[in-house]
Amino acid sequence: MATPPHIGKFTADNPGIMTLQGTNQYVVGKEHVLVIDVALSADSNLDGIIEQVEAMGAKKIDKILLTHIHSDHCGGALALRKRCGAKLGIHRSRKGYLGGEDFQYDDNDRISFGEGELHVLHTPGHESGHCCFYESGDKVLFSGDNILGYGTAVIHPPDGNMTDYLESLERLLGFDISLILPGHGPLIGKPEAKIREYIKHRLEREQQVIAALRRGRNTIGDITQVIYVDVSPALQRVAEFSVQAHLEKLMREGRVKSEGERYLLLNDN
Ligand SMILES: [Zn+2]
Repeated sequence: MATPPHIGKFTADNPGIMTLQGTNQYVVGKEHVLVIDVALSADSNLDGIIEQVEAMGAKKIDKILLTHIHSDHCGGALALRKRCGAKLGIHRSRKGYLGGEDFQYDDNDRISFGEGELHVLHTPGHESGHCCFYESGDKVLFSGDNILGYGTAVIHPPDGNMTDYLESLERLLGFDISLILPGHGPLIGKPEAKIREYIKHRLEREQQVIAALRRGRNTIGDITQVIYVDVSPALQRVAEFSVQAHLEKLMREGRVKSEGERYLLLNDN
């Protein structure tokens, strides 16, 4: 699947179990463009982004935006800023995190570039300052790590928050999106189905956590063992974070309480 005209993609050379084929870095615009996420500061990565800009016939990188502050999305941002003089933006809650940002943005801000603008959607869950960017002309959503080309997003408490994450996904259903450009993996051509699948998957996991609690499995490790039967050792910790995030959501809702390392169902009928 190809990106629309005036949107380019250069995938960083950082493949891995969490980053899939590598981080997708996007170039948006015609003459004056903006770049979304810069994973690596290596010259080869910056060269790749700049070659993408030139291949699109653009003249200048005006701005660099970050979906979030995990290093596989912001690790090269200062280096690209230095190299091309672009203004670097970051979510308001992360002001000063990189120590060289030029501006901040927050929910519902509009960020202009050349001929267009991006609508900032603060979408916490994967990371509390996470933002998606929506472009209403092409109806595209840059989803960062909220929605991936395949697999699921990691929710790592305490900064990762399952309640916020599900609310962020629900909110995205309110936008007219024809294509999702994710932070990792292939482009997503059926956005609504994908978002609904993501929500359904989490709610199914929540039911599995409740069922495990009902059967007397009450530590994170124990619940993870029951639910994630064939998870690879490399993803074991990630699975435990996910179970923890579900338990914290259930506690916030008054459905579960914790006693030391144990979690207990409340008001279960
Ligand atoms: Zn990532």
